[in-house]
Amino acid sequence: MTAPVISLDRVSRLYRLGDVEVRALDDVSLTVEPGEFVAIMGTSGSGKSTLMNILGCLDQPDSGHYLLEGVDTATLSEPDLARIRGQRIGFVFQSFNLLTRTAAIENVALPLFYAGQTEGSLGRARDALAKLGLAERQKNHPNQLSGGQQQRVAIARALINDPAILLADEPTGNVDSQTSAEIMNAITTLNREQGLTVVLVTHEPDMAAYADRVVVLKDGRIQSDTRSRESPRRIQPAAKIHRPGRWEEIRSFIGLALLAALRAIGRHKMRAALTMLGVFIGVAALIAMVAVGEGARAVVKQRLASLGTNLLIATPASTRSGGVRGGAGSTSSLTVTDAQAILEEDEAVADVAWVARQNAQAVYGDENWATSVQGVTPSYLSIRNWAVASGRDFTPEDEHDGAMICILGQSVVDALFGQDADPVGATVLVKSVPLTVVGVLAVKGNSGGGQDQDDVILTPFSTSQQRILGVSTPSASVAAAAQSGLVISLGGPQSSPSNPFGIQPRLAGFVNAIYIQARDGGVTDQAVDQVTKTLERRHRIKPDADDDFTVRNLTEIAEVAEQSSRVLEILLAAIASISLLVGGIGIMNILLVSVTERTREIGIRMAIGARRVHVLLQFLVEAVLLSGIGGGAGVLTGIAAAKIISYAAGWPTLLSPPVIAGAFLVSAVIGVFFGFYPARKAALLNPIDALRYE
Ligand code: ADP
Ligand code: MG
Repeated sequence: MTAPVISLDRVSRLYRLGDVEVRALDDVSLTVEPGEFVAIMGTSGSGKSTLMNILGCLDQPDSGHYLLEGVDTATLSEPDLARIRGQRIGFVFQSFNLLTRTAAIENVALPLFYAGQTEGSLGRARDALAKLGLAERQKNHPNQLSGGQQQRVAIARALINDPAILLADEPTGNVDSQTSAEIMNAITTLNREQGLTVVLVTHEPDMAAYADRVVVLKDGRIQSDTRSRESPRRIQPAAKIHRPGRWEEIRSFIGLALLAALRAIGRHKMRAALTMLGVFIGVAALIAMVAVGEGARAVVKQRLASLGTNLLIATPASTRSGGVRGGAGSTSSLTVTDAQAILEEDEAVADVAWVARQNAQAVYGDENWATSVQGVTPSYLSIRNWAVASGRDFTPEDEHDGAMICILGQSVVDALFGQDADPVGATVLVKSVPLTVVGVLAVKGNSGGGQDQDDVILTPFSTSQQRILGVSTPSASVAAAAQSGLVISLGGPQSSPSNPFGIQPRLAGFVNAIYIQARDGGVTDQAVDQVTKTLERRHRIKPDADDDFTVRNLTEIAEVAEQSSRVLEILLAAIASISLLVGGIGIMNILLVSVTERTREIGIRMAIGARRVHVLLQFLVEAVLLSGIGGGAGVLTGIAAAKIISYAAGWPTLLSPPVIAGAFLVSAVIGVFFGFYPARKAALLNPIDALRYE
């Protein structure tokens, strides 16, 4: 003797509406043997549907026990209940409950997919449809089928997994009498020929007449239970539930979720596109930010290197408009002797160079050009990390001899000689003084301040002092030099440690800037201190007075510049993250709408065997697809934007594959993060509540 297919033991189901309590099922006990064909009858509201939902494992009783094929359903886990719904029970509803805009064959095959049986599933679905006379209709969507055809599709779907029992809740309620007869004949044939156990709810005696046994409900209780004829007794084959292997299951998880998500997105393309916008903008901003930021950092680094290593610059302090400081030291407070003192006295200093500038006219042939003529000492170029592109640098001999030579910047070459010309060896007139060109500077482009650094003519400092800038012997500085113990020699030029180029002190004039190289990067701050002290002492600055010079650490200036580019980066990052956040919230919002819209679809899927994890994955994949597609488009747009920005700003862009992969990953993570709440909400829906949702 096998167990009954169905065994209800004193089952009750209560509904509470405010203070009113409705006993939809009241202490119902019922047994159905394999092969029986039972009709449940009763007036509207007598509890027929409540009973069927419990039999179908869509709902649970409040008290009592329901044993299906000998197993107490109360002891089953959620996945096992889902497997039983999908494989042991075939449920046919009055309102068909087919997935809309989905082909008949796919509707029929879906329980197989949820059972993890992908192999040959479509073939089986085709056969099932053919058996019910729908061979020609497998590609049709439900809205292209008549009521009777839809119900036959639903029956094919209910039977696809070879269930133990067919439950039908008023299956002919929505079709005409001709079609009703067809449907009832199909069900009767299944019962008679295949021994399928059938429980059918109807309020029409005509339909009940097909059954072998009629149970009448009244107010949630069994009023009568009559057998009109003996059912063929069958030995029910052992319950078999397909449990796919791990990989098969994962494949079916992903396949089902992708299919459902792609279909959902495809149905609302415009909505999906708008939903993606936030993530799209966020990722594009992120990519552009990193590309431009890294590019800018590279430029700054390059500028930093071109400033020379461990370089300080001392310049005369600019006159204040208040005019507190005046006199000799106001705009030209620094002298050659200051520079020499720094080199000699300050032990953190490795080398010094100085420059005196003047604007002057340069002439070559018919061409003339107003430029900055700068007298520089021989180590000037090397201290500033400037290179000579052709020709040569100045030597100490040039400085010593006051050689009539010059080095031209490229802008001057362009103006006087034309582009691509090599001026080395030519003679230009600067303030009518003939200077032979010995070299051309490597192009440096514009400075940070937008000044053309190539518009310059360099001459040895001594030459500029003696021949070009004119003799200047500022009495103040000579006096200061005398007081600081510097021996003033009026004799011929002699080299000495304190006067390495043999500059004649009477010519030691003002300089516009002193470039000071510290011994190494570790002592630049020390060097600044020493230089400041030396200059303060030499200039007799009182302790509480302002200095008439400024000493700056160029490396620090560059670092400040780098920091400001970082500020820009942080700003862009803020925009990107706000946009990503808003995009994520948008995805969450649309998914919540989507879950509500598709509550019934979720109920249908659960009724045919979808587990909570299937539903969760379906919506999670939808969220990740939305954010991932948005992110992918954002990556492409970000790269394009970075290229355009860098083209406009003249910066290189730096984009590494990890950054692109990272941005893509971020968008996927946003999908998971913001999709989780709606997906969980969908997964936690009660099957019967979801099915009843209007
Ligand atoms: P039938 O299918 O026989 O027409 P039902 O099983 O649908 O009857 O309903 C039985 C009783 O339970 C009715 O009084 C109905 O109003 C009540 N009922 C059914 N579903 C709900 C529900 N979700 N909430 C509250 N009451 C319900
Ligand atoms: Mg009903």
